[in-house]
Amino acid sequence: MDAITREFGRHRYEVDPTYNADAYQIERHGGIAWHVLGWEVVADEDTEWTGQYVRTGEMLAVMGGDDSVWTFPPDAITPLAEGAYCGGCGQIGCGHGGR
Ligand SMILES: [Zn+2]
Repeated sequence: MDAITREFGRHRYEVDPTYNADAYQIERHGGIAWHVLGWEVVADEDTEWTGQYVRTGEMLAVMGGDDSVWTFPPDAITPLAEGAYCGGCGQIGCGHGGR
């Protein structure tokens, strides 16, 4: 399997095409729209030779309007309907200019 991995800051993740929504809602972070990057991956002892990274089982997500990366279990992540959040500040239900 040739997974596509990318870097975001000092994090590395594997792209998952099934996570293709613009924004996601995350359990216990209800008021904020998140952008899911993909599966968190880390190097193991073989990575230097194989170039392959190993999934941790968690996903990387970036808070809307911010660029800090958080990790969440995949079952905490739900896609948001288009227009359910504010494109300006990333908050769900924000009144200013959201569409
Ligand atoms: Zn807003």
